[in-house]
Amino acid sequence: MAFLEISNIQKRFGSQTAVHDFSISIEKGEFITFLGPSGCGKTTILRMLAGFEAPSVGSIVFDGKDVTHVPTAKRNVGMVFQSYALFPNMTVAENIGFGLKVANVGKDETEARVREMLKLIKLDALAERYPWQMSGGQQQRVALARALANRPKVLLLDEPLSALDAKIRISLREEIRELQRELHITTVFVTHDQEEALSISDRIVVLNEGRVEQTGTPSAIYNFPRTRFVASFIGTLNQLSGEVVDTAKGEIRVGTQVLVTSNPLDDLKNGQKCTLAIRPEAITLDAPGAVTNGKNTVQTVVDDVSFLGSIVRMRTHLGAEVVSMDVFNDPNQKLPVRGDTVSLSFAFENLLVLA
Ligand code: ATP
Repeated sequence: MAFLEISNIQKRFGSQTAVHDFSISIEKGEFITFLGPSGCGKTTILRMLAGFEAPSVGSIVFDGKDVTHVPTAKRNVGMVFQSYALFPNMTVAENIGFGLKVANVGKDETEARVREMLKLIKLDALAERYPWQMSGGQQQRVALARALANRPKVLLLDEPLSALDAKIRISLREEIRELQRELHITTVFVTHDQEEALSISDRIVVLNEGRVEQTGTPSAIYNFPRTRFVASFIGTLNQLSGEVVDTAKGEIRVGTQVLVTSNPLDDLKNGQKCTLAIRPEAITLDAPGAVTNGKNTVQTVVDDVSFLGSIVRMRTHLGAEVVSMDVFNDPNQKLPVRGDTVSLSFAFENLLVLA
């Protein structure tokens, strides 16, 4: 049995089912993210892990112990929310030590742990400040320290970075990940931000309307989305309308071009309409006159070029289908301009076919 075992949980609110039959096994020290749009049920699952809500059906086991109906205070979980939720009338040190006091930990031990936590979040110098004397990022680090002070078995993070501005959000997410690795604490993180999920997680669970769409490592989710929802929710994706020519050979027609995929077409039939999905960065711009193997190489005309800094996004087309692709910005290379005819290669393994 895994360290955290969630089996077949469901949550109904009146006639609405917010979470349908959700199961996952999480290993000790894993960093798991529940990712999905507003209303997909991610917070409801986290609240069931915390003990704020009871599942209508199913069980939750932490470290071999069934906690499905155990109250929050006895679950040994640490929590951080979007709003820092610090006690305004307490100093940083008092906030961090609060849970220890509640748990009747002795004075010396409390002081030692508060010092340890302050060092961990690099706020030793601000122990006597009050929350209102600190930035949002600092307050959230205190909230994190407070959640960790009781040495929880599981750390639950509900959109902890959403209220912060972009720069702090990125540096704090790196800090959280570092801390989590150092403490080897099993962590469940909830976010609707795909970039955040991709950058921080060992595994991501993509949720939609209370159901799991796909579970996998960030690279598997990004490179090999298994459903149309995952494909469009995460990153930029070309979705080209096509038709299956030959399932055995992996051939799909888009406009007048036939492209070949090395991904299986088991669920499709010859002649069936489908969507051919490919990330902009999986399409390569061939050097003029380059010898390509010819199979997935097409000639097309550049419709637009946007300079984005380290990359340049080009808009082209296959028949009536718009194709976006990315080229690395090389200051020493002449980039195509609108109206140029270019040769593009589509990687066989990155052409995904969605029914
Ligand atoms: P967000 O990112 O907006 O917080 P979410 O993915 O976390 O969304 P949940 O908060 O888990 O979604 O909500 C899932 C569904 O359950 C929603 O349709 C919501 O309206 C409903 N829901 C959540 N809590 C309750 C409640 N206490 N009573 C009734 N319905 C609820």
